[in-house]
Amino acid sequence: MRLSRYFLPVLKENPSEAQIVSHRLMLRAGMIKQSAAGIYSWLPLGFKVLRKIENIVHEEQQRAGHIPMLMPTLQSADLWKESGRYDAYGPEMLRIKDRQDRDMLYGPTNEEMITDIFRSHVGSYKDLPLTLYHIQWKFRDEVRPRFGVMRGREFLMKDGYNFDLTKEDALHAYNRHLVSYLRSYERMGLQAIPMRADSGPIGGDDTHEFLVLAETGESEVFYDSQITELNFGDREIDYDSIEQCQSVLEEFTSRYARTDETHDAALFEEIPEDRRRTARGIEVGQIFYFGTKYSEPMGATVQGPDGKPVPVHMGSHGIGVSRLVGAIIEASHDDKGIIWPEGVTPFHVGIVNLKQGDDQANGACDALYDSLKALGLDPLYDDRDERAGGKFATMDLIGLPWRITVGPRGLKNGVVELTSRRTGESEEMAPETAVERLAGIYRGIV
Ligand code: ATP
Ligand code: MG
Repeated sequence: MRLSRYFLPVLKENPSEAQIVSHRLMLRAGMIKQSAAGIYSWLPLGFKVLRKIENIVHEEQQRAGHIPMLMPTLQSADLWKESGRYDAYGPEMLRIKDRQDRDMLYGPTNEEMITDIFRSHVGSYKDLPLTLYHIQWKFRDEVRPRFGVMRGREFLMKDGYNFDLTKEDALHAYNRHLVSYLRSYERMGLQAIPMRADSGPIGGDDTHEFLVLAETGESEVFYDSQITELNFGDREIDYDSIEQCQSVLEEFTSRYARTDETHDAALFEEIPEDRRRTARGIEVGQIFYFGTKYSEPMGATVQGPDGKPVPVHMGSHGIGVSRLVGAIIEASHDDKGIIWPEGVTPFHVGIVNLKQGDDQANGACDALYDSLKALGLDPLYDDRDERAGGKFATMDLIGLPWRITVGPRGLKNGVVELTSRRTGESEEMAPETAVERLAGIYRGIV
């Protein structure tokens, strides 16, 4: 993309309404625009990051054997009356009437709808196990929408639902989700720690929240510092293997890590003092096992091996896709702007032309641009007729992890400069070498 033809409405001034850094930077970098409290338009740059996160989630869910689909945002209230949650949910639910005076709602989650789909089409235990998921907008009329996309009213969520014959099978689904979530967050350049949590309005026995440590997090968390040394890495895992998924769960949940709701002071005290940590965290996902909570009242049964109907064991599993955009920025920025991890960056590399209009500089930038594109990379070329300082400031603000700077002085010696946004280190090299370097950096990501 050439910046002169793009739509990147960056702000010079700090917007006064933003209380936290991610909200401020998303507004300044022209990623979002508020349309009403807690409701945002995703401008092109923000939309690109949102899509990258979505793609990672899709890939990792499908790798785990979970099946994508799409349910609507608007739901009929009937199903919610059946489950008993229409009254239980409270004012967070946006209730709407259609022209026939029918009760509708903007879905805050989809347990009822997916259970209805399941009971309409699945009749035998032979069709299990089954995990369906979608990535769809949700609406919750939060009391205090704030912090930009972190606590919106309309937000994008991946929600998945497993249907299993037995509790053991459903717990395997739970563990599969835990593993796939760990992988997803790591691909986004994040460390999200699974923490035992309270089940809240969805109800259930087992639940873990995934928290990203950040000062601006809304949850208070308590953990053993050893847990932050764990990472999933590039280990291969067979998602069908109960043992393998179970052992990852055990590894990642064996150390104390809890939110304030489930914090146990006495247990916490047992951790050696130098490893005890109290911090803030951002919830970027949650997994639940809730057994037959919905399948029983809604009659979601299958015929078991003995021919008798049995209610299926279910769980639901959410990832805060739009919140993650903010969470990643909270975890990765400096005073000049955002620092995108390679896995989610809106463009792979920025090209800064120091002398727009100069034949040689223009030619070198065009050639770089073309060879990067030919390798499947997505460069953003700042071809505006602007001062170098302004171009650098924009690149730093929008946070592309790599920048190639092209100017007549370097070109005289046959070199351009490759700069890392994270370390600030620059290196001069031939343009072809810079392209090769970037191809190497993004191998396995693109
Ligand atoms: P919270 O405790 O933050 O209100 P929740 O526990 O009610 O969230 P879940 O039902 O677990 O949310 O939804 C799954 C994920 O969706 C959450 O882990 C979070 O990342 C995201 N999410 C929930 N509410 C919001 C919101 N208002 N704005 C943006 N993302 C949200
Ligand atoms: Mg939650």
